[in-house]
Amino acid sequence: MKNLSIRLKITLWFTVTMIIVVIFAYLAVFAVSRQILIKTIQDSLVQNVENNVDEIEYHSDISQLLKTHRYDYLIKYGNGYLDIDDDFLSKVNEVYTSLYSKKFVLIYGSNPTSSITEGLDFKDSKIQKVRSNGNWYYVFDRKLKGNGLDDLWLRGAVSEEQGERQMSGLIRAAVILLPLLTILASAGGYLIAKHALKPVQKISWTAKQISEGNDLKRRIDIGDGDDELHHLAATFDEMFDRLERAFEQERQFTSDVSHELRTPMTVINAQCEYTLEEERTVEEYENAILVIRRQARKMTKLINHMLDFARLEMRTGKYTDICLDVSELVDAICSDMKLIHEHGITLEYATETVVLSVNPELFSRLLTNLVSNAYRYGRENGHIFVHLRREQTTLVLSVEDDGIGIEEKEQDKIFQRFYQTDSSRGGDGTGLGLAMVCEIAHYYNGTVDVESVFGHGSTFTVRLPGATSSLEI
Ligand code: ADP
Repeated sequence: MKNLSIRLKITLWFTVTMIIVVIFAYLAVFAVSRQILIKTIQDSLVQNVENNVDEIEYHSDISQLLKTHRYDYLIKYGNGYLDIDDDFLSKVNEVYTSLYSKKFVLIYGSNPTSSITEGLDFKDSKIQKVRSNGNWYYVFDRKLKGNGLDDLWLRGAVSEEQGERQMSGLIRAAVILLPLLTILASAGGYLIAKHALKPVQKISWTAKQISEGNDLKRRIDIGDGDDELHHLAATFDEMFDRLERAFEQERQFTSDVSHELRTPMTVINAQCEYTLEEERTVEEYENAILVIRRQARKMTKLINHMLDFARLEMRTGKYTDICLDVSELVDAICSDMKLIHEHGITLEYATETVVLSVNPELFSRLLTNLVSNAYRYGRENGHIFVHLRREQTTLVLSVEDDGIGIEEKEQDKIFQRFYQTDSSRGGDGTGLGLAMVCEIAHYYNGTVDVESVFGHGSTFTVRLPGATSSLEI
């Protein structure tokens, strides 16, 4: 049983259940049908006897009858005659009717039970059950009334076998129908199970294709539906989506790392080769070492940024969120960064109380990256303005500068990893700052937008949902 496919198991369960149900249904039908048949036989017995009641007349003088020939069958009885009408039916559908005197003398008709019912007391309008020659019979008596008929009885009799003959037809039909129904039900059950379990086959086939062929692009995609299997297939597809994304990110990360580290490594190698080529002056050695140190620092910074970024992107880092007044964090960061005062740039900030559940380290990283960029790409003696506010349940943080601005065609691209505009390439940036800002905002289901006029400055706006105005819940 364990090795059978689910399809076969379902078919087996279904068939067994069907057989049990059909057997019970037949038993019920037999029981009810028997009752109905017996009732039908008894009704027909009573009906036949009652129909014959009016077919008998008594005549003390039959001379007139003989003259007019208005009689059917005359039987001498007492001082007169009984005229039995032609319509007297002594046998209809195995129902016998006979005419008796009260002393059990058969006057007219036939009765298969006569041998044993002769002694059976007449009971007016009552059905009695008697056994004769190994068969059960129903007997119905009717006392005749009227002129000269008072001592006469009509007795009807019908064999119970009459009903059983009809029952045996039913049994025969059942014997043929039962296996036929079972076979049909099993075949139907098998087809239904096969159809219903088709998605399971597709799920296992797709999973196998993915695992064997390494084709992460495959999806089960069994179409629309709201049943358990459609839910299961959708869950698997979501899992495949996530797996594909994770693999793609990992691949991208590896390729980015090698690509981004190649430039500083090439510079370091070139410097080493150059210095070792021949005897150099102390100054030349010093310069070479400074270049190597700069490139090594760049590599360290790059590696740290990439690791942080990857950790965040793959959600592998542990970032504990704390419900805090973000304005305090923003004030603290701005008051520190105000001291940079690079290129004579002035940093100003305005904050209002905004409470949000965030990880302080991540939020600080987000703000620091934006403010650092505003310094880096600011103009001589320029201004930076940081503004924190709440719009209903959204935290809105904007960092505005009057620096070099960003060309419109670049504005979409600057959030991509390692993307740097031509003017900023070669500086101390890594091209990961804004991608990190974006990743942190997405981590909190938020967004980042930029508005910029080339040559006049830029405003970066971060929106994070779930903000309130007070720490109390
Ligand atoms: P980088 O380390 O080069 O600054 P980012 O991801 O932080 O990398 O920024 C990507 C690019 O976007 C930068 O190279 C720069 O050209 C542009 N950029 C970012 N912030 C600003 C800004 N405040 N003003 C002008 N350009 C900016």
